[in-house]
Amino acid sequence: MRKGSTGLGSFVVFKYMSIFQSALDQLKTAAQACNLDKGVWEVLKSPQRIIQLSLPLKRDSGVVEVFEAYRVQYNNARGPFKGGIRFHPEASLDEVMALAFWMTIKCAVADLPYGGAKGGIKLDPKTLSEHELEHLTRSYTRALRSDIGPKTDIPAPDVNTNAKIMGWIVDEFSNLSGEFKPAVVTGKPLSLGGSEGRERATGTGGFYILLEVLKKIKKDPKETTVVLQGLGNVGYWFAKEAAKHGVKIIGVADSKGGIYDKRGVGMDIDEVMATKKSKGLSAGCYCNGSVCDCNNYQSLSNEELLEMPCDVLVPAALEGQITRDNAERIKAPIILELANGPVTFEADEILNKKEIMVVPDVLANAGGVVGSYMEWVQNLYGYSWTEDEVISRMKDKLGTAFNAIWQAHQEKKLLLRTAAFVVALKRLEDSLKGRGTV
Ligand code: GLU
Repeated sequence: MRKGSTGLGSFVVFKYMSIFQSALDQLKTAAQACNLDKGVWEVLKSPQRIIQLSLPLKRDSGVVEVFEAYRVQYNNARGPFKGGIRFHPEASLDEVMALAFWMTIKCAVADLPYGGAKGGIKLDPKTLSEHELEHLTRSYTRALRSDIGPKTDIPAPDVNTNAKIMGWIVDEFSNLSGEFKPAVVTGKPLSLGGSEGRERATGTGGFYILLEVLKKIKKDPKETTVVLQGLGNVGYWFAKEAAKHGVKIIGVADSKGGIYDKRGVGMDIDEVMATKKSKGLSAGCYCNGSVCDCNNYQSLSNEELLEMPCDVLVPAALEGQITRDNAERIKAPIILELANGPVTFEADEILNKKEIMVVPDVLANAGGVVGSYMEWVQNLYGYSWTEDEVISRMKDKLGTAFNAIWQAHQEKKLLLRTAAFVVALKRLEDSLKGRGTV
């Protein structure tokens, strides 16, 4: 248990290195850097609302199982709560709280009219049939029927969730509402009001941020090598965009392990994906295969891959991957956080001493929620934008966010993460003051 040291007495129930605690330590660092109003700190150090559920599911076998589920509505000072839903065996309240907090910061970084939220169901979706997955998603939606909605809280995909699952939520929520309400979620299928470009938005946006960083440090993308941890939707689209610009992906890992291209030539990500998919899909959408099935590369563990030499390390899987235990061994001079929270607070300090630049999640992966915002606006106003329109608007938003953060980083000599938080905190403070909350 942690007590007293950060003045966060109300959180003593959490373990010393809980993810939420690590997120609050980031907040505290930024709060000190910008001399944050005490009232704003008080409001932002805990979530507004926590919804905790036990969802029963009658399995195809007839056996009943109960699944833990959450929705944390962290803060809505700037607009409706916004954030994804993840399906993962390690999902926990602590994790969902941290993720909901980061959504609050991320939406403010991108200057979107949203607050922050996150949801999760603790399960391994690969062990369920498609029918079971649909049933559970629908009962989660029914349980949250009064808590979510186009103007209150708008979920989206996150780890192990996708457009198909969002489609089930649209259907269930619309049936309960008695009218078609596609704007209740983003990241849904095109046929239900989804947006062109949303699927690739996080990965493409992440690459765009990397290009901005390379420009600042005057490094040629064609001379840049990347090691990528995670080949889900985000990692895949990042790699596709990287290849277009001549950046070489020399290593990649998924949950089963990694592969590394010793020759430094670079991998064809579609070829790697095809091998991963060749063993079939479970529950209709999860690959049974792995990048490790590609036998023309050096195979190594997921942990080893993080420590391989490269110019940019891109963790695009889960939080807590670079910690005080392995930070010292990281060789990449730049880390681009495409996952949420892959570098812990303690690791940040070690990486900083090693002069490794960490491009924070709240900027690097903000393309996803910016894409979501474009989808939501189209739903609310009946617009229909092309992929080019969506991606170019997203790039504008990300470019503005990047410039504000880079300026704070240079002028105030802040780490990029702290600079991003400082930019976001100013906006949150303005909204909280505008409402009279503080
Ligand atoms: N799950 C994504 C994230 O962590 C997207 C959230 C959204 O679009 O609401 O940023």
